[in-house]
Amino acid sequence: MDRKQNIVIVGGGAGGMEIATKLGRKLGRKAKAKITLIDCAESHIWKPLLHEVATGALDIGIDAISYRSHAAAHGYHFQQGAMTDLDRNKRQVILAPIKDKSGEELLPARRIDYDYLVIAIGSIANDFNIPGVREHCVFLDNTEQAMQIRSMLLNKFMRYASHHQLNDKIKISVVGAGATGVEMSAEMHHAVEQLSGFGYKIDSSLLEVTLIEADSRILPKVEKSEISESVTRELKQIGVNVRTSTRIDNVTDSGLHTTDDEFIAADMVIWSTGVKAPDFMKNIGGLASNAINQVMVKPTMQSLTDTHVFAIGDCAACPQTDGSWVPPRGQAARQMALMTADNICLMLAQKTPQHEYVYKDLGSLVNLSKFHTVGNLMSFMGGGVLVEGKIARFVYTSLYRRHLIELHGVFKGTLLMFAKGISRIIHPHLKLH
Ligand SMILES: Cc1cc2nc3c(=O)[nH]c(=O)nc-3n(C[C@H](O)[C@H](O)[C@H](O)COP(=O)(O)OP(=O)(O)OC[C@H]3O[C@@H](n4cnc5c(N)ncnc54)[C@H](O)[C@@H]3O)c2cc1C
Repeated sequence: MDRKQNIVIVGGGAGGMEIATKLGRKLGRKAKAKITLIDCAESHIWKPLLHEVATGALDIGIDAISYRSHAAAHGYHFQQGAMTDLDRNKRQVILAPIKDKSGEELLPARRIDYDYLVIAIGSIANDFNIPGVREHCVFLDNTEQAMQIRSMLLNKFMRYASHHQLNDKIKISVVGAGATGVEMSAEMHHAVEQLSGFGYKIDSSLLEVTLIEADSRILPKVEKSEISESVTRELKQIGVNVRTSTRIDNVTDSGLHTTDDEFIAADMVIWSTGVKAPDFMKNIGGLASNAINQVMVKPTMQSLTDTHVFAIGDCAACPQTDGSWVPPRGQAARQMALMTADNICLMLAQKTPQHEYVYKDLGSLVNLSKFHTVGNLMSFMGGGVLVEGKIARFVYTSLYRRHLIELHGVFKGTLLMFAKGISRIIHPHLKLH
């Protein structure tokens, strides 16, 4: 009898979690193949919600999905570990040792065999080698960093609240006015409003958030400039200081120096410019990669170098017919995952993987916490439709709803959305510890 084929997926994020679930249900449960998901974390959080984790608006105790229990219920295996290298000759993924908080080794470095590999490890913010960024800024690339920002922010807010005679403001700069930077800036104002409801003597006037963008408008990747204008107006109304056409030259522990020799003082700098795949991904295992370390793939999502290796989501450089690249978006990662699962099934059946990925841009929505939601829907239909307010908010959450339904099925996914809604009503709106 043929040996069961090993399909290994590295990275259980927006894309990886959906492909593992689909293949687990289709192949793993029926013992047609062994599906293994590897992630460096223990649990999955939908990355577009990270800014809410960072301000305490979202409790990961409620929203995180344990990989192990999800794997057991959906026909795949889970291995915790961080991929550091790839041995394509032996078809093995190499994982770093796992250590506890005191540095003691819990598990040694491991090698995991694969027949088919899907790399879905996402992206990190790009520091563009600007001096001082790595040393003095905080990032919003994963749950751990979001939790670090949360405790730094809450500590600062609480310290200021108990020294209310101070006239000084809490100065926070957010560099990069893409969706992450914009949503984070609004969410911080919301967090301060919530804190005042907990009896802390603090209000929005103590907070000075400066959103810095090198481009001439915020949300530069969003096609419709009306969205940028609407969001800029709303941010200014909330009290965010919006600075466009401002380039950072270097960062120190007291603030940022611009290329125009201006100094912007900051108690904390959140860096959210651009994306790149992590540096260890550069030509990993001899796979062709681009300048931002993404694996170069064909429209079938197979690596240009090795047909048994796929890459999906933010860590993949997937060409579009107009010569551009598929943008790093949650919706693209999901679409790629579901299509790649079908291509892998074809390969297992000794057929050619025939599905080619075409990015279907369902729209770009920006949610300014409780203040406003605005965006563009159905961009793939040419131009799209501008939406604002409650409709936009409903559609904004639908991407997450679809993700939950894909992971848990329609019944449980819908129940979970209701449960989360109820939890938001009965629990405090801010997680303080
Ligand atoms: C605040 C914020 C708001 C956003 N809003 C939107 C939005 O509204 N709409 C939208 O379309 N997109 C949005 N995005 C972008 C979206 O989150 C990403 O495009 C999407 O998550 C990419 O999916 P992915 O599967 O490629 O990677 P991810 O979802 O980032 O998952 C990567 C996974 O790989 C794991 N991993 C990383 N390194 C390793 C390693 N070495 N070994 C093992 N595992 C590893 C991580 O733990 C993680 O689980 C937002 C992003 C942020 C940060």
